[in-house]
Amino acid sequence: MELLKERILKDGLALNENVLTVDSFLNHQVDVNLMDKIGEEFYNYFKSKKIDKIVTIESSGIAPAYTTALRFNLPLVILKKQQSSILNGNLYETTVHSFTKNKDYTLTCSKDFIKDNENILLIDDFLANGEAVLGALRLFEKSNSNLVGVGIVIEKSFQPGRDKLNNAGLDVYSLAQISKLSKGVIEFK
Ligand code: 5GP
Repeated sequence: MELLKERILKDGLALNENVLTVDSFLNHQVDVNLMDKIGEEFYNYFKSKKIDKIVTIESSGIAPAYTTALRFNLPLVILKKQQSSILNGNLYETTVHSFTKNKDYTLTCSKDFIKDNENILLIDDFLANGEAVLGALRLFEKSNSNLVGVGIVIEKSFQPGRDKLNNAGLDVYSLAQISKLSKGVIEFK
C-alpha cells in the first residue's frame, strides 16, 4: 500500500535493527483517514471470503481493525491481554511470549464472543515473531472457530513471523513489508 509506505518513510522511526516506532499515526496518535484507507484495503483483499467476525489484539490493532470491521459491517472482537493467568470458566486463554517486551502475557477471549464454526479475520498492527497471531490462533482452535485470514499493517519480513504463519497455512496480507531496519534506515521488500 503506497500511501502507507510513504507515511512510514516520512514519520516512522527505526530505533534500531529490530524496532520501528510509528507513534505519530498508528500506535499513540492515530491518523483516522489513513486507518479508513487501511480498512478499505483489507476489505478489498478479503471480501471474497465468508467472514463472520473481525478480531484484533489490544491495544494497537484496534484502530485498523475497527475501520476494517466497519467496511465489512461486522462486529469487532478485541482479545485482551492479562498479566497472569486468571481463573474464569467463561474465558478461552493462552500464554503468549512478547519478544518486544521480553515477557509472557495471557491472551483471553470471552466464550460469549467467539463461537463454534465462526469464520474470523484477524487484524493486527505489526507482525514480528508471529507469537501474537499464533496465540490468537490457539484461542480460535479452542473455540472451534476458523481463522480464514490475517491482515497485518506492517510486517517486518526479516523476522521469523511471516514464515511461521505461512507454515501454519494461513492467508496473510501485509500492507507494508519491511526488509531492513537500522538506526535511521527503513527499506521495503
Ligand atoms: P509478534 O508476536 O509478531 O512478535 O509481535 C507482534 C506484536 O508486537 C504487535 O502486535 C506489536 O504490538 C508488537 N511489535 C512487534 N514489533 C514491533 C515494532 O517494531 N514496533 C512496534 N511499534 N510494535 C511492535
